[in-house]
Amino acid sequence: MGMDHVTSLRCTLCGDRYDPESVVYTCSNHEGVTGILEVEYDYDRVHDRFDAAFDGVVPSQWKYRAFLPVRDETEPVTLHEGGTELIETPRLSAELGVETVVKDDGHCPTGVLKDRASSVSTTKAREHGRDVVTCASTGNAAASLAGYAARAGLDCRLFVPGDAPEGKLAQPLVYGADVLAVDGTYDEAYDLSMAVTETFGWYNRNAAVNPFQVEGKRTVGLELAEQTRTDPPDWVVVSMGDGCTIYGAWKGLRESHELGFVDDTPKMLGVQSAGASAIHDAFHDHDDVADVADTVADSIAVGRPRNTVKACTALSESGGTSVVVSDDEILRAERTLGSTEGIYAEPAGAAPVAGVRKALAAGIVEEDERVCLVVTGNGLKDTESAMAATGGIEHIAPDLEDVTERYA
Ligand SMILES: *Cc1c(COP(=O)(O)O)cnc(C)c1O
Ligand SMILES: [Zn+2]
Repeated sequence: MGMDHVTSLRCTLCGDRYDPESVVYTCSNHEGVTGILEVEYDYDRVHDRFDAAFDGVVPSQWKYRAFLPVRDETEPVTLHEGGTELIETPRLSAELGVETVVKDDGHCPTGVLKDRASSVSTTKAREHGRDVVTCASTGNAAASLAGYAARAGLDCRLFVPGDAPEGKLAQPLVYGADVLAVDGTYDEAYDLSMAVTETFGWYNRNAAVNPFQVEGKRTVGLELAEQTRTDPPDWVVVSMGDGCTIYGAWKGLRESHELGFVDDTPKMLGVQSAGASAIHDAFHDHDDVADVADTVADSIAVGRPRNTVKACTALSESGGTSVVVSDDEILRAERTLGSTEGIYAEPAGAAPVAGVRKALAAGIVEEDERVCLVVTGNGLKDTESAMAATGGIEHIAPDLEDVTERYA
């Protein structure tokens, strides 16, 4: 019984440790939410508990229950997240000039990789006897949390920027959540959600500050390691907003190696938009770290990332790096991914394609390397940007002549 395989929550800034059974969000030694906590494990115990075969067959992320920070007796809140296919992408490879595979997490239940984290955090909320969950979100985390809250029978109250894509606002409404559109940016919505958490005691799912969130996201790394165990990629490419996803992916890949399940780890390539590049700027020691967020890729429109430290750890520990891409390059990437392989990603989900193009041109990725792109979100939630990416539809009269004119 209990959670013996989890040893502590350790502050990434000062190293102070906290009881993993307590509900703490960040280390109290630092101002605001900067003292991000890291969940630490007893890996001998994790290894003993993991009794499945590392054979490439992943029905859902709960195959890795032994790795997840939940009590043995807890029933997970799940909609069948994770277990997404690794897709061979020969036509995309030909288009980019490098061998690629795609991990399409647009197939997760609410359409985003974040479902992995929402599953874990609603499971934790229930474990701690909480009835209300909350988060701030550019859209996807809100929709994802709302779906899992509905599944778990929890009340869900969300803070989103008012200009989020409509599809991402409609979805949590259908899931029965209170959706409060904050008249301001994501960063302002975030600050408000933290104040609300403190005042009302609702369980907070915010990605960086809830230490258990990243732990769910790391199952994408565990899955990738398992699915590529006979043919590992040189690079894994992930877009970065707050930076939790890339760190989660890296932590899972690193653990698979440390536990001896795979021989090697890939390099991580983080991709940001030129209009929201704070992690990239921090990693490359740029003097003027931009704290504005202006990009078509709303899911990574983060001016003040909450997990820069962990994201930079993923880049440096893996021997990887980051690149920035323009909005035009992101929209072109969305079109490329859709038209070459039938994979419909939202802008932030397609950004890795643009990142690989950029990294190839810069000599960061070599043509004889193998690249795994993580598609983090489904395109159906944001059709407006898709219309911008494609130029929209053509109108014709309902007669054969109009068609003949075009194709004869
Ligand atoms: C949230 C999100 C990201 C970025 O994840 P972070 O953890 O904020 O870096 C990327 N793509 C999509 C589709 C997302 O929803
Ligand atoms: Zn600290």
